[in-house]
Amino acid sequence: MPKRVIVIGSGIIGASAAWHLAKGGADVTVLEAGEPGGLATRNSWAWINASWGNPEPYFRLRQRAIAEWHRLEGEIPALAVNWCGGLIWDLPPAELDAYAAQREAWGHPLSFVTRAEILAREPNLRDVPDHAFHVAEEGMLEPLATSQALLAAASALGAEVLSGSPVKWLERGDRVTGVMTDDGVIHADETLVAAGVHTDSLLDSVGITLKLTSPAGLLAHSKPAPKLLNGLVMTPGLHIRQTAEGRIVAGTDFAGADPDNDAEALAASLQHKVEAMVTGAEGLGLDFLTVGHRPTPADGFPAIGRPRGCEGLYTIVTHSGVTLAAALGRFAAEELLTGRRDALLDPFHPDRPALS
Ligand SMILES: Cc1cc2nc3c(=O)[nH]c(=O)nc-3n(C[C@H](O)[C@H](O)[C@H](O)COP(=O)(O)OP(=O)(O)OC[C@H]3O[C@@H](n4cnc5c(N)ncnc54)[C@H](O)[C@@H]3O)c2cc1C
Repeated sequence: MPKRVIVIGSGIIGASAAWHLAKGGADVTVLEAGEPGGLATRNSWAWINASWGNPEPYFRLRQRAIAEWHRLEGEIPALAVNWCGGLIWDLPPAELDAYAAQREAWGHPLSFVTRAEILAREPNLRDVPDHAFHVAEEGMLEPLATSQALLAAASALGAEVLSGSPVKWLERGDRVTGVMTDDGVIHADETLVAAGVHTDSLLDSVGITLKLTSPAGLLAHSKPAPKLLNGLVMTPGLHIRQTAEGRIVAGTDFAGADPDNDAEALAASLQHKVEAMVTGAEGLGLDFLTVGHRPTPADGFPAIGRPRGCEGLYTIVTHSGVTLAAALGRFAAEELLTGRRDALLDPFHPDRPALS
């Protein structure tokens, strides 16, 4: 008998887990409160990288995650990661050099680039510094399209994806046995909670505390333009990338600007900076802004595993979920279906003291 698994949440994390579980032979049902594809996911800047997030074990997890996206692209041809590389100079020069030296010692493939080389890569940029670092391994994707492609691929393997299906609480006896929905209880051998910023309240329904924060991040989306940028560009106070449909998406950094009280004014000022920075973007204009909330365990690192050793229950909640999804979906499916836990996950158990 295949293992019956409920996945709560259809963002990029739940979608990846659903696909890996279905591929592993599980009988999968995805329950999504809203529209398929996620909340944080659809509002993400969607940079795939190992450039952000010390310490070293987290760097190693992110490096593996990049490799897992390449593997997943081979398995699901509809996925389209743009391995465009990233230019980084968003630290003062001395800090940037120290950062690069540490990363090189870890084997991170950064290369030093001169002003001329920056302009060769991004001829439309103004105000470029004397040097920066280029990280060839980095990429970007269209996050909503990606989680929807993962869900479609999971459905093709037999997974059921039910949108407009909020889970009210988890059902628990001496183990978690399923979930309560508007249509009654659905039973499962395993319940995987990948509900983003709502993960904590679902775990709380069975008496499990997992401390989360959900910082807001604003991104400004320009009107579509012909190709002006070739890759990701991380400058002080302005991170920019151009989407597949030609919009330049800007935040004060990849995590999005703090929208504070006046989101419209902040978005307008970001668009103004974009137009000053990119030749050809003058007069392009802001099309819309997005504000997303990042599911972030209290210490800033991923939480993945069985909380409190509770049988029948598993969770994945993380910032940088776009970077990590291909790896975390795979690791969760392996642990749930075979009991094997990847050693890279050792520091990221949900039971660590910082989260309880
Ligand atoms: C502005 C911004 C910029 C970012 N930039 C980057 C970046 O550059 N690189 C990067 O790697 N990451 C980035 N992130 C983080 C990344 O987007 C998230 O970590 C990732 O999208 C989380 O995916 P998720 O599937 O866990 O959550 P979500 O996408 O939020 O999905 C969770 C889903 O669960 C559903 N749900 C919740 N409660 C229930 C319930 N009770 N029943 C049923 N369904 C439920 C929700 O409706 C939602 O669809 C950024 C995020 C933001 C907001």
